[in-house]
Amino acid sequence: ADQSESLISHLALDIGGTLIKLVYFSRNKDRPIDENKNSKNSVIDGRLHFAKFETSKINDCLEFILSNKLHLGGFRHHEDPASDNILIKATGGGAYRFADLIKEKLGVSIEKEEEMECLVAGANFLLKAVHQEAYTYMDGRKEFVHIDHNDLYPYLLVNIGSGVSMIKVDGDGKFERISGTSVGGGTFWGLGRLLTKCKSFDELLELSHQGNNRVIDMLVGDIYGGLDYSKIGLSSTTIASSFGKAISNTRELEEYKPEDIARSLLRMISNNIGQIAYLNALRFGLKRIFFGGFFIRSHAFTMDTISVAVNFWSKGEAKAMFLNHEGFLGALGAFMSYKK
Ligand code: ADP
Repeated sequence: ADQSESLISHLALDIGGTLIKLVYFSRNKDRPIDENKNSKNSVIDGRLHFAKFETSKINDCLEFILSNKLHLGGFRHHEDPASDNILIKATGGGAYRFADLIKEKLGVSIEKEEEMECLVAGANFLLKAVHQEAYTYMDGRKEFVHIDHNDLYPYLLVNIGSGVSMIKVDGDGKFERISGTSVGGGTFWGLGRLLTKCKSFDELLELSHQGNNRVIDMLVGDIYGGLDYSKIGLSSTTIASSFGKAISNTRELEEYKPEDIARSLLRMISNNIGQIAYLNALRFGLKRIFFGGFFIRSHAFTMDTISVAVNFWSKGEAKAMFLNHEGFLGALGAFMSYKK
């Protein structure tokens, strides 16, 4: 859209350990209110925009903000309306780390919003206000889930960013961070980089597509000679030990292919998160688990693995669900806080 035609208002940032997420709203000056009615992201007479940058390239992000004049989409402090000081809502650790840099480069101040509050506000907003937001993913099939507004709570929110947070959500602003794990998206990308020499996250993800984890993982069948260990309900293809086959001294290390390693790693981490999520859902009797965070990237194998883990451990009782705007929960929550 032609920026001169639209008015940017309300820029919010979520500056995480790995990625910076931006949400901003543009109003179209001359457009009749109903023209945008059918557009997915339309809000009254404008639209929401989403963007992301690597946190290590924060200068590119600030450049993008400046050249699109997004920083003018803040607000002036109500206690000091005459002041020129514009405030921008931001969450995530970078709201602390980069406050001075942002002030210096953009001339605006950061109003910090608490990270968990933002994640929950973002998730609640998406689940209530956006049509076709949550979906299940099993055996390659994506199915949108109808969310009944009166029957949304309680649910478990699992945000898989660099690290993982698990939050029990009981209502608007009512939540508790009940668990988490440091084995998350940062672990997949970090370990994956060390093991495969991939240059980017997307390359690692793409590589995992082509791999076969059975070359790396020790399966029940490898231990039981191809037989199912049916007495305790394990099929021959169940992973008994992630990476357990790489101990073989009959194969040279160079024979283990990067694509197989990437796939085992993705399976190990997704499985582990799915299992911890399920155990926490069990602790509190939660049937619905929503997974967010940029680790997921709507990636079929990741979602399939998480769904299978939740389904397997809960014997079909609990359901894993994913969100279309998975990576933007925190940024959306910070954006929503302008209303407060
Ligand atoms: P954080 O707020 O901690 O940065 P995010 O929700 O943004 O968390 O997720 C970061 C994770 O997303 C990374 O650890 C990585 O696994 C994954 N990821 C997805 N896309 C990218 C990308 N383009 N570059 C780096 N990591 C990415």
